[in-house]
Amino acid sequence: MKLFISADMEGISGIVDPSYIDPDKGKNYERGRILMTHDVNAVIEAAVESGATEILVADSHYRMTNILIEQLHPKATLLCGSPRDFSMMQGLDPSFDAALFIGYHSRHGVPGVLSHTMSGVIKNLYVNDQVVGEFGFNAIYAALCGVPVCFVSGDDQIADEAKALIPKISTAIVKKAQSRTSAACLSLQESKRVLHETTKQALASLPGLSPMQVKLPLELAVDFSHAGQAEMAAIVPGTKYEHGTTMVTFVAQDQYELYRVMRAMMNLAGTVEFC
Ligand SMILES: [Zn+2]
Repeated sequence: MKLFISADMEGISGIVDPSYIDPDKGKNYERGRILMTHDVNAVIEAAVESGATEILVADSHYRMTNILIEQLHPKATLLCGSPRDFSMMQGLDPSFDAALFIGYHSRHGVPGVLSHTMSGVIKNLYVNDQVVGEFGFNAIYAALCGVPVCFVSGDDQIADEAKALIPKISTAIVKKAQSRTSAACLSLQESKRVLHETTKQALASLPGLSPMQVKLPLELAVDFSHAGQAEMAAIVPGTKYEHGTTMVTFVAQDQYELYRVMRAMMNLAGTVEFC
């Protein structure tokens, strides 16, 4: 069994605010890295017990150099560093049996610890008229690679968001959100147990899980925080934009074009100063 893991940081056990996830000025960042490696190892250990023979872990937060390789489970390979064309999903291809998302968070504008979508410039992201966060966007990418997403860990809010898209997904809830920067967190011993048990359950239920159904072509719509960002994003060839609005659209032929164009738009929009 060959498994792909995409690991973000906001939904990791014990992490509640930016001080744990910001490599430049987070006073708890080094603790955040230890916590992230803890959660990833708990899942890998259970996956190996369940028969996984190959595990690729894509470090998927910010500069993507967060996981401590010194402490990573020996059976996993770590894909780290950036930039990467397919960002959080780099390395996934049809040869994988399943994808597992660790430390994920809910989308921008809804409750959940550190909820956001990709970066501060994106207010809402739509694929085929459905609003998606990072979970949904990456699950669509996986589905079009023919790979089912069987597991997500994070707070109670991302568990709900994931189940709305993939009802049969196994969810490991390691904290309950109280506000965007506060949560009731399980102890590390308990979260390790929950991650371990949920991984085993997810992999046992794989035979009954097929990849999400996604229609092609993919209608991508990105709603930016302000019109200046949208104007900059609309430089990307093939996009459509109505002047003065915040929404830029693009029709992608496959998941690779979808990811590349979303990233190109987001990175261009990110260069615009607000005032
Ligand atoms: Zn992140």
